[in-house]
Amino acid sequence: VKTSGKMSYRFFDRQYHDSIRARIDRKAELRHALDADQLILYYQPRVEVATGETCSMEALVRWAHPTRGILEPIDFIPLAEETGLIVPLGEIVIDKVCAQIACWSRQAQPVVPVSINVSPRQFNESDVTTVLRKALLRHGVAPALVEIELTESSMTADNVHVARSLENMQRLGIALAVDDFGTGYSSLSQLQRLDFDVLKVDKAFTAELEKTREGSVFFTAIITMAHALGMRVVAEGVETAGQARQLKQLDCDELQGYFISLPLPATETQPVLARCVL
Ligand code: C2E
Ligand code: CA
Ligand code: CA
Ligand code: CA
Repeated sequence: VKTSGKMSYRFFDRQYHDSIRARIDRKAELRHALDADQLILYYQPRVEVATGETCSMEALVRWAHPTRGILEPIDFIPLAEETGLIVPLGEIVIDKVCAQIACWSRQAQPVVPVSINVSPRQFNESDVTTVLRKALLRHGVAPALVEIELTESSMTADNVHVARSLENMQRLGIALAVDDFGTGYSSLSQLQRLDFDVLKVDKAFTAELEKTREGSVFFTAIITMAHALGMRVVAEGVETAGQARQLKQLDCDELQGYFISLPLPATETQPVLARCVL
C-alpha cells in the first residue's frame, strides 16, 4: 500500500510536469507560427437582406500548420489568449486584413468592408487603435473598410479604457460591432452609450428559430430595440433557408452563416461578391 501510494504520487507529479512542458512547447510552437508567417485568414460573407448582396466579410484566422494541416481557432486561440500571444497575433491579423483589402483594390476587384475580431487583451495590453491606424496608413486603406468585432463579455460597464479606445476608433471612421450578442450581460443602453453600429446576434438564437415558437421572440425584441437605437442587426450561424426566411420577415438587416457561405480563402471570395446570394 505504501509503495503504491508513493508510486501514484510520483506518477501524478510527473504528469503535472509533463503538462507544463507540453504547454511551454505549444506556446513556443505558436510563437514560431507567428514569426514564420503561418497564419492565414479566411473570409465569411455577410449578406444584406434588402439586396441579397454581400455587404461585408468577417476575417477568421487559421493556422496553416506545416504538418497538421489547416487548424481552426479553437485549436490555438484559447492558448493565445492565456499566454498573451493574442496581442501579437491580433496585430498580424490587422495587418493581413489591411494588406488583403489593398491587394483586392490594386487588382480592381470589388471590395467590401472587412470585420476583424479583437480580443479584450488587445485593448488592455496594447494600443490597438494606434495599431489599426498605422496598418490602414501603411496599406493605404480607408478606415470605412474595416469594422471591429468585440464580444459582449469584453465590455464591462466600468472599463473606461476600452470605452475610450472604442471612441477613438469611431473617430477614425471605423465601425464597431458587438459579437455573440445574447451570451453576455451587456444592456442595450450600454451598447447605445458606446455607440455601437452593429449587433451580431449569437448563433444559438438563430438555431432556436425553427425549434420553438418562442424562438422568434428574442429576435423580434432585439431587432425592434436595436433599430430604435440606430444599430443594424446581423444574425450569425444561419444554416437553413427556413431561418433565412424567418429572419427576413423579422426585419433582420444581415445574415451570416453556412447557408450563405462557408468562410473562404481570400482567393475564393470574388464570385460571392459578384452575385446575389440570397
Ligand atoms: P466568431 O467571431 O463568433 O466567428 C464565427 C464562427 O462561427 C466562425 O468559427 C465561423 O466559421 C462559424 N460559423 C459561421 N457560420 C456558421 C454556421 O452557419 N453554423 C455554425 N455552427 N458555425 C458557423 P471559427 O472560424 O472557427 O472561429 C471561432 C472563433 O474564433 C470566432 O468566433 C472568434 O471568436 C475567434 N476568432 C477567429 N478569428 C479570430 C481573430 O482573428 N482574432 C480573435 N481574437 N479571435 C478570432
Ligand atoms: Ca466574430
Ligand atoms: Ca460571433
Ligand atoms: Ca449609432
